[in-house]
Amino acid sequence: MSQHYAITMPQLSDTMTEGVVVTWEKQPGDKVERGDIVATVETDKAIMDVEVFKAGYLAGPLADVGATIAVGAALGYITDTAGDVAIAAGEVVEEQAQTEMIPHHAGTPIVMPQLSDTMIEGVVVTWEKQPGDVIKRGDIVATVETDKAIMDVEVFQEGFLSGPIADVGSVVEVGHPMAFIVDDVAKANDTGVTISADHKVKNTHKVAPPAADKPAHIPTPKAAPAHISAAGNVPPVARPAGRQASPYARKVAAQLGVNLTGLAGTGPSGVIVAADVARARPSMQEVAHSLPQVDVPGQGRAMTSMEKAVSHAMTASLTLPTFNVTVNIDTAALTAAAKAKKVSVTVAIAKACSVAMAKFPRMNWAYQPVDKLVERSNHDFGVAVMSNDGGLVVPILHGIEKKPLEALQNDWTGLVERARVRKLAPAEYSNPTFTISNMGMLGVSHFTAIPTPGISAILAIAANGPQGTPFTITGDHRVLNGADVALYLATLKQTIEAPDAWMAGGTAVAAEAVTGQAATVSAPVSPIPEGNWDFPVVIVGGGPGGEDCARDLADHGIKVMMVNNEPFPGGECLWRGCIPSKAWRAAADVIRNRAHDAEMGVDGTNAPTLNWAQVEKHRRWVQSSRGDMALKADKGMKIDVREGYGEFADAHTLKITPVEGEPYTVSFGAAVIATGAPAFVPPIPGARENLATGGVVTSDTIWNLATPPKKLGIVGGGVIGVEMAQIFRDFGTEVLMLERNERILAETEEEIAKQLIALLEKEVTVLTSASINEVSGTPGAMKLRYANKEGIESVFDCDVVLMATGKRPDTSKLNLDKIGVELDGAAIKVNARCQTSAPHIYAVGDVIGGYMLAHTAATQGRVAADNLLGHGSEYDQDKDCGVTFSRPQAGFVGLSVAQAKAKGIDAVEAKMPMSIDAKAMITGETEGMIKLVADKATGRIIGVHYLADHTDTLIGIGVMMVAGEMTLTQVAKAIFPHPTQTELFGELARRLLNRLRRTAKK
Ligand SMILES: Cc1cc2nc3c(=O)[nH]c(=O)nc-3n(C[C@H](O)[C@H](O)[C@H](O)COP(=O)(O)OP(=O)(O)OC[C@H]3O[C@@H](n4cnc5c(N)ncnc54)[C@H](O)[C@@H]3O)c2cc1C
Repeated sequence: MSQHYAITMPQLSDTMTEGVVVTWEKQPGDKVERGDIVATVETDKAIMDVEVFKAGYLAGPLADVGATIAVGAALGYITDTAGDVAIAAGEVVEEQAQTEMIPHHAGTPIVMPQLSDTMIEGVVVTWEKQPGDVIKRGDIVATVETDKAIMDVEVFQEGFLSGPIADVGSVVEVGHPMAFIVDDVAKANDTGVTISADHKVKNTHKVAPPAADKPAHIPTPKAAPAHISAAGNVPPVARPAGRQASPYARKVAAQLGVNLTGLAGTGPSGVIVAADVARARPSMQEVAHSLPQVDVPGQGRAMTSMEKAVSHAMTASLTLPTFNVTVNIDTAALTAAAKAKKVSVTVAIAKACSVAMAKFPRMNWAYQPVDKLVERSNHDFGVAVMSNDGGLVVPILHGIEKKPLEALQNDWTGLVERARVRKLAPAEYSNPTFTISNMGMLGVSHFTAIPTPGISAILAIAANGPQGTPFTITGDHRVLNGADVALYLATLKQTIEAPDAWMAGGTAVAAEAVTGQAATVSAPVSPIPEGNWDFPVVIVGGGPGGEDCARDLADHGIKVMMVNNEPFPGGECLWRGCIPSKAWRAAADVIRNRAHDAEMGVDGTNAPTLNWAQVEKHRRWVQSSRGDMALKADKGMKIDVREGYGEFADAHTLKITPVEGEPYTVSFGAAVIATGAPAFVPPIPGARENLATGGVVTSDTIWNLATPPKKLGIVGGGVIGVEMAQIFRDFGTEVLMLERNERILAETEEEIAKQLIALLEKEVTVLTSASINEVSGTPGAMKLRYANKEGIESVFDCDVVLMATGKRPDTSKLNLDKIGVELDGAAIKVNARCQTSAPHIYAVGDVIGGYMLAHTAATQGRVAADNLLGHGSEYDQDKDCGVTFSRPQAGFVGLSVAQAKAKGIDAVEAKMPMSIDAKAMITGETEGMIKLVADKATGRIIGVHYLADHTDTLIGIGVMMVAGEMTLTQVAKAIFPHPTQTELFGELARRLLNRLRRTAKK
């Protein structure tokens, strides 16, 4: 009797479940050789050759051209008898295909499908049908667990389910039978042995062939070439000299870049077949597994298929040369915007990654062996999700680049539901182009993820930390370099931090996608109005606020003009404020410190004398050097610095009146007002009048003093008054300070102020609740007439009177009413973004009121710049800080308990005196205290308050704790060096924690 062999529909790709017959290359009766192409079939990816592995004659029945045949089912037959062109009904077909056919039962096997490219076996989870049940095409008969998910097994043929069926829980290799389908219920086997866990059915079974008009169904070859794909129009490589190679083998060799010369062939007479080619190029897994392995003592259990798949994929990833790049991103704006749009943050982040990727398409490419790059434009991102059983599933959000957020959210909701129970379809987890893993919710402070072959970058998102949220990309160096990833992350940062710019355009993106136009949404979008302006942005005022703003804008390539009515930038801070006052303070410190040298055991230094001329020379040198440096830096950064007075002619025109020459105008898109706030002199009789003579000075004019006064009257007990009082006291001046309120340092934290006042009162005379009635006289012979609380009047004879009565913005000459900029009292009204009531005009620094401090102005300048660049940045006063350069220095960061309580925060504080600190005792700087304020509910440190020498340095620690939103536990665990005053912070945190623990127990 002739032997018949089935030519089955091969599985030519991991997603292929069936194929369509396109051509027959041989006719029934034609002689065929092993390796011949007998037909072509169309798969889901391409038209591919069907190769035979047996010599003989082609025999029918052949599947019709155009017929759809399931993978593993027969297309035709090979007979060893010439002229035997058709199999008669009832004839027996014996399975003996050279590819180690799995013997089958009397019926069509239902084989373990290959549901992902990494799947080599599956576990039977349930049987949805029982032997004998009617099966319709498309029915789900079972579920199986793959390496990625629990999936349905669908059948493509009608009939009845028949055993033996694989046990629930048994592991079945891909392509091996799990059960069978018979065409007659009488043939259904429900009593036979179930397929054992090793599922290798050893016996061959004889089967009656199907009716001649139907192709026979034969089990899938075990070695279905799932990993060999000859897709694509690659011309086959040439036959090796003097050797035979099948056309398919040559095509696969071309695809995989395998050299056939010297390759052993396992076909008849040593013909090289496709399997030989596949073996010649070891898989990534094989390469990786050939790495030295360390044996571990003990009895290992077998991995589940999921564990095995993860292990193999991870080992295969060892072949990727990777590197990591981290950027910290502030996700607050994105989180808020996502919430407002009712989309999950995960979806918003995925979309942001896609938006940023529009500029960096390489991030979405992949390396393909050998020496190829797959350039993909479809953004199909895998996003890791925790399944209900604690494992990790990575469903794919498809088409992110073209779908609006709402559509993506829709997709995501369904995906997550299915991912949690591991019920994803193969397309839902196969072939991502980029992957995102967010472990932020698990509190990890930093981590890196491992990209697997097929992607070139994976993004790992950690928990929000002091610097923001760390976004780490691990990249494949064959595809990406460090700069690619760094630039991508920088863009991603901008995209995430300014979500409004692209989130609003969600539907526009979709519309573009529909019209077929490329979605070119890129973030961020600057709010600077479009127009043919002389300058996109002008800045009025060159102090810390204006200068920092200008620099940030220039740094980002914006053409900026900064007009300042002084020859050098720096503003009040450099010329009349922080810098000169601290230069004086530095000299005063030397005098004050020497007075304590004797306590340390150093004699002879306690009578220093002041060299005023040198003090002034030094001060001026610092100022002019810094002014010079600032101007050079500004010009170097291509800021167009102009000297002159700026005022608004209209909403987009600035009039500049230079020191010399005619006024002129420039047009602008947006403007930033940073004009500061001059010293304010109240209408006390004689006070304003004597400014001109120099008998009365302010912080603007005190720098003109020829010598330190012998006697100084100070009106006003704020920070400037107190600083000046102590400086001049140290210079040997007799000081009287008058304050009309009940206490001086009204804005300083109460307990700190109280202690500082007590110390101050030992050095200078302070009178509170005083009325200042008149200032008169001439410089060197001034009379300050005042009354105490009881109304008893006195006169203080002094050389000069300092009016330290605050600062007040003066915008009267800016024409703000012409451009729609509203005021709040004397200050310009702004929102947290430093934007005025005219949307294209921003204002920063002293001119907007609040804390009138240089770093506050500079921060606001950067906030304004950030917003003009299209980023949603805000100034947060609750994280601001300040130092009073008194002795000891007072300082604050964040909120006091009283301020916190006023905001509804249940705040607690701990304080420690400097007198118990070892370092402070050594140096004799034991006055003062440090206080830590924490939010009781979260343990977050929300304020730090100081009265201590070196507060100007110690405050940095408080700034970091508050800005970084550190908790008491974190600070309690931090290691501070001994002996330093910094130890107090750890001590304070532990003390407060202990107290909270004790009180919580009660
Ligand atoms: C004695 C003293 C000590 C101080 N010490 C400290 C300190 O230790 N630490 C601290 O943080 N802060 C300190 N300050 C405060 C600090 O100086 C200010 O908060 C800071 O300079 C404000 O910066 P600004 O950019 O808002 O304005 P300013 O620094 O005032 O700059 C404004 C600039 O704009 C110019 N200008 C105004 N109007 C126009 C116009 N129409 N056209 C063109 N140019 C214009 C002004 O001439 C000036 O150059 C101190 C202040 C004083 C007075």
